[in-house]
Parts: sequence; structure tokens; C-alpha cells
Amino acid sequence: MTEQVTRATFDEVMFPNYAPSAIIPVRGEGSRVWDQEGKEYIDFAGGIAVTALGHSHPTLVNVMREQAGQLWHLANIMTNEPALRLAKKLTEKTFADRVFFCNSGGEANEAAFKLARRYAFDHFGPEKNEIISFYQSFHGRTLFTVSVGGQPKYKEGFEPTPKGITHCHFNDIEELKSLISDKTCAVVMEPIQGEGGIIPADKTFAKQVRELCDQHNALLVYDEVQSGVGRSGTFFAYEQLGVTPDILTSAKALGNGFPVAAMIAKDNVAQSFVFGTHGSTYGGNPMACAIAEAVIDIITTPEVLDGVNKRHDLFVEGLNAINEKYHVFKDIRGMGLLMGAEVVEQFAGNAKAFLTAAAEEGLFVLVAGPNVIRFAPSLIIPEEDIKEGLARLDRAIAKVLAN
Ligand SMILES: *Cc1c(COP(=O)(O)O)cnc(C)c1O
Repeated sequence: MTEQVTRATFDEVMFPNYAPSAIIPVRGEGSRVWDQEGKEYIDFAGGIAVTALGHSHPTLVNVMREQAGQLWHLANIMTNEPALRLAKKLTEKTFADRVFFCNSGGEANEAAFKLARRYAFDHFGPEKNEIISFYQSFHGRTLFTVSVGGQPKYKEGFEPTPKGITHCHFNDIEELKSLISDKTCAVVMEPIQGEGGIIPADKTFAKQVRELCDQHNALLVYDEVQSGVGRSGTFFAYEQLGVTPDILTSAKALGNGFPVAAMIAKDNVAQSFVFGTHGSTYGGNPMACAIAEAVIDIITTPEVLDGVNKRHDLFVEGLNAINEKYHVFKDIRGMGLLMGAEVVEQFAGNAKAFLTAAAEEGLFVLVAGPNVIRFAPSLIIPEEDIKEGLARLDRAIAKVLAN
């Protein structure tokens, strides 16, 4: 028998680490979602940049059904065909030669930071262990990743945290010059900071970071968990920065909602994860890899990637038109379909008010920090859904202003 559950059930039986909205979605199709009451929403959130091909994409549903009838899991004492095919595709379409699979962005970053230290240990000795990352960055919720992440609130009360980590202001090359040394084993960055407020790296900054890493034999780690898999308008955002990292992490959109993540690297770096150094029970399981393979096949087509840039323009146009009416945004920025609208002083600290009002109007949006409304819709969201969603956003903003 299926038990009746409501939002109130959450407060009874779930850990209080989340504060979910009152809406409980039960079904999704493309960029539309329906809740328990049958109310319809347009999805500009994509489950935080995850459902890059929308909900219930027919190809993905078929691939999943087929794989489910064949083979779910083996553990890494054996390899499997979907994992090998997916790894081949990832290496063919990127700078990387080798792939390590895991299940979430945090795990991929955990692996990347461990690999950076191990590589430095192997080639330069144990003294070279320092990691530099950036304020406001987000890399996951494991103890190592909250320590490398640049938001102190995520590690408060969980100390002692791993040592040898320093933070630098994003896009400030002079500060990075003063922090980096021959003890630095890695510099870690998001090509566009997601949780930190949709802040793209300057191209010149990105190039200079690469040069500094080379001068000090430090590895450059790109966290593309949010920016990757087509979201930026290219397969990965590094392609547009004209910089090649040494290690890159991918998750979120990689499985379109099925948990799967990857760390990819050049062969010489990957060699430091010799047999027995790292692992994961579920990492590289055939279900996840079959789905991710299909995701990549669809997303790396020119139609989808070019479509991202077309849709970006539609969003920017629409957001500018809304802003001409209401003057609520002081900046509209982002890459591809990872966009942010920073609210004016009057609403500083309260971007969430727009999210709440949007949901009432039948629209999912996100925030990125206290001041930015974030949009991360499906990369193939139909034009009419963009138009309708923006109309709902317009009404939501009018409501917030009327209060
Ligand atoms: C979401 C995110 C993570 C964490 O991914 P999980 O799958 O939640 O562990 C790490 N880095 C970035 C840039 C992210 O956006």
C-alpha cells in the first residue's frame, strides 16, 4: 500500500538540513513539471543545472529501460561496456586521456584534490601539498571539498578541517601571484562560479592562472560540475577560455538527474592514481554510464550547442525587457544557459523573494547567493516555454514590487 505523504511529512521524518518549498512535484515532461495538486510549472531551474535535456527525455527513458533489463551493477573488480564507451567519448571530446567515475560532484572534486596531492607527492615530495582556491567558490559538501570551497559557513562547526588550503579573490591575479609558491600543488577554480553568484572568470585572468601554475609546477583543476556538459554553449567551458586544465570534474548534467560524475585528466597526471589508491563502489556502474553516454551523444550535437547560445540571447532579451519595466536588476550575466540576474540594492539579500513569487506564478527559478536570481533551464527548452516562463517571471516581479 502506498502511504499518503505531504510536505508536513518532511518535517516529521527528514533531517532538517534542507528547507524545501511547499510544492511537491510528481511528474515532469520537457521543461514542464506538475505538482501533487496538478498545478503546472515551467522549469527554469533544471534541478540546479542538472536536467539539461529536460524531464523524461524519450531517448534517455529508453536507454535507461534497456540497460535496466540487462545489467545494473558489477563493482570495480570487473569493468563494463557502458563505462568503457563513456570513457572513450569523454576522452575523444576533451583534452583528457583518462577518466575516473564516481557518483557526485563532491566526490569528483574529492578525487581531484587527492590526485593533485598524490601527483605532487610522487613528483616533488610531500612538502608540495598546498591548494589554492577562490572565495565564494563551491566544490561540494565532503570535509575536503568544504575546506577547499570558499564559503566559510559550510565548514563552521566541522573543524578540524584539512590543512594546506588558502583562498584568493576571484579574478585577482596580483593576489594569486602573492599566494602561489613551489609548495602549491594545485589551483582549483570554476570557470564560472555558480553557487557564488554566476561570476565568470575573466579570460586574461584564466590565462594568467594557467601560466602561474606552469611556473610553479602546480596542477590546474577546473570544477565544471555546474558549467560543463553543454551548459556554457560548448561541451565544457574551458574551451571558451582558451585554457586547458590538468584535471577537470564533471557531474550534474552528465546524468541528466541519474547520479554519475567523472574526473578526467591527462595520462601523466592520471598515472598517480596507481592500483589501490582510490575507488568507489558505485562509480562507473553500467546504469549510470549508459545514461551518461546517451546524454553526451545528444548534447554534443551542433544543434544542441548552437541552440544554447540562441536561447541565451532570448533569455537576455527577455530579462532586459523586464528590467526596462521594473528596474529590479543591476546586472544580467552568465554563459550559455547558466545565467544570473543580480537584484538592485532595494532587494539586496532578498533574491529569494522573487523565487517564491515565481513559484506562485508557476515558474521554477533558482538563487545563487542572497542577491542573484539564477536560471539554469534545460538546454533544449522550447522557445514557447522560454516566452511563457518570462511572462510568469514578469508577473512575479510585479507582485513582489506591489508588496
Ligand atoms: C553542485 C556543485 C558541486 C557539488 O556537486 P554534488 O553532486 O552536490 O556533490 C561541486 N562543484 C560545483 C561547481 C557545483 O555546482
